[in-house]
Amino acid sequence: MTDRRQFLKAFVLGASASMLAWGGKLAAGPLNRSGKLVAGPAPRTPATAAVRVVSTWDFGVAANRAAWTILGKGGHALDAVELGVQVPESDLKNHSVGKGGYPDRDGHVTLDASIMDADGSCGAVAALEHIEHPISVARRVMERTPHVLLVGEGALQFALEQGFKKQDLLTPEAEQAWHEWLKTAKYNPSINSEVHDYGKGGSTGMPGGVNNHDTIGMLALDAHGKLAGACTTSGMAWKMRGRVGDSPIIGAGLYVDGEVGGATSTGVGEEVIRNAGSFLVVELMRQGRSPHEACKEAVMRIVKKRREASKTLQVGFLAMNRDGEVGAYAIQHGFSYAVCDAKKQDALIPSQSVYTTSYS
Ligand code: ASP
Repeated sequence: MTDRRQFLKAFVLGASASMLAWGGKLAAGPLNRSGKLVAGPAPRTPATAAVRVVSTWDFGVAANRAAWTILGKGGHALDAVELGVQVPESDLKNHSVGKGGYPDRDGHVTLDASIMDADGSCGAVAALEHIEHPISVARRVMERTPHVLLVGEGALQFALEQGFKKQDLLTPEAEQAWHEWLKTAKYNPSINSEVHDYGKGGSTGMPGGVNNHDTIGMLALDAHGKLAGACTTSGMAWKMRGRVGDSPIIGAGLYVDGEVGGATSTGVGEEVIRNAGSFLVVELMRQGRSPHEACKEAVMRIVKKRREASKTLQVGFLAMNRDGEVGAYAIQHGFSYAVCDAKKQDALIPSQSVYTTSYS
């Protein structure tokens, strides 16, 4: 007993000495018995880190531009990602994010979104209806409730209490596509909505040729060396009522750890959830992989488990480490990501993928 008490006392004294050495913050690594840091992350070097924002798909270009109005002036990454992803949320031509998104099979537009800060704070909403900016409701969940995730009716109630306006999110164009789909009513996620002809559909093989999914995931690193991420979507078109994808699930559609980096995903959410995809990417970076290597390994994990199915489904990961290095990888050809920094604002980069030709 005495030994145990002495050990505890030694540990507490040692730990507080170490906390003081780190400016009062708890050291981020294991301590030895005299409270010295044994191993841990290298000290942050903001000077070498690039101020940068990245996001999924070609609609990320306009979203990054909006985020840059904050980042470029030395603003905070969290504010930048919220403002950035609001752009596709409000774009009525975008049928996979926010207002104008395609509905579920019963005709309801239900939105999923999450937001995460460098220190692990996070908030999310799932199956939220009638609110144009689910990302901002997710942020309120993070900042004004003791919870992480609110869903459905409860999420709507909270949004209205917070002053968000109730509106109809089903646009005439989306409603028409839904009626077209009802003629066959087959659930058949397309590989990429990256055809990006916004509604004309091209090679998706959907009735009426419509694109039926895609998500904006965004990661930003600000001038203070802080990372944040956001992810928002209307999910898979024609999904079952109540279906929730990866985007509002912390660790699946989005994960940020300020000491390591952030990751986000797009594609068939069920596959991402099964593998805790974005958390896996961040953990692989923690173990020393580059963002590209980490995304590739997470994709290969899905492909290995689902060899046959993976031939016809899409999952893409996008990651940025704490120094602003960016990487991505997808199962299928056609995934792209947008990068914006002080040098170049409108870059759109094709991701590498397992399959290098389009599936048809
Ligand atoms: N990940 C989204 C979902 O499963 C859809 C997508 O990004 O394509 O809801």
